Amino acid sequence: MGKIGLFGGTFDPVHNGHIAVAQEAKKRLCLDKIILIPAGDPPHKTQKKVTQKQHRLRMTELAFEPFDGYEISDYEIRKNTPSYSVDMIRHFHETFAGSELFFIIGADSFADLPSWWHYRELLSLCSIIVVSRPDTEKSDLLADFSGDEEAPRVFFLDNLHMDISSTQIRAMVYHGQDVTAFVPETVCRYIQENRLYKEQESFTKEIDGWNSHTCRKN
Ligand code: ATP
Ligand code: MG
Repeated sequence: MGKIGLFGGTFDPVHNGHIAVAQEAKKRLCLDKIILIPAGDPPHKTQKKVTQKQHRLRMTELAFEPFDGYEISDYEIRKNTPSYSVDMIRHFHETFAGSELFFIIGADSFADLPSWWHYRELLSLCSIIVVSRPDTEKSDLLADFSGDEEAPRVFFLDNLHMDISSTQIRAMVYHGQDVTAFVPETVCRYIQENRLYKEQESFTKEIDGWNSHTCRKN
């Protein structure tokens, strides 16, 4: 029972922007807990270079360890096949029957939502918390749903302006730059100990080539 936030991501690596989003969503919507759901590894044929799932899962655990009210789920990591967001939401809807679910996504992802597999079912199972990202307008985002019988339940978190991305962090680590301002210290140490992001392809364009909601290459 209660209000549960679901926050998926590649988390390669998890960074202070993700933590700020989670903390703000939890506070503003009075969520009882947030479940972080690192994505599984993409299929080989997409060529997307993503750090192995065990590393991404561990970094997510380390980042949220100091805070109460967070759980890390290996739901996506355990699956061997790519899954649609609606499958994940259905899973948590069954697991937490009677709870109110809030799916946290970036405004960039929300803009694509009408192309997601079974998105109307997804919207019937949860509310959406949309986190603003640069270049996205609230009114444009809702325009796509104006013809729908049932309007989606959407909450906007629009004063978080953290100019950080995992892509930027991977590039900085590759170039030997200090990332302690962008990731928790435990994650920073983990990156160093496991020598992550030391290969050039870890931050090339292919990183954006996989869409975990539509399960297609962009
Ligand atoms: P990449 O650069 O590899 O795409 P990312 O920083 O966007 O990584 P993801 O794991 O793709 O991180 O993000 C998970 C979710 O967190 C997405 O919905 C994304 O929009 C959101 N997000 C990531 N960084 C920020 C940020 N700085 N501010 C607000 N939302 C963010
Ligand atoms: Mg991203």
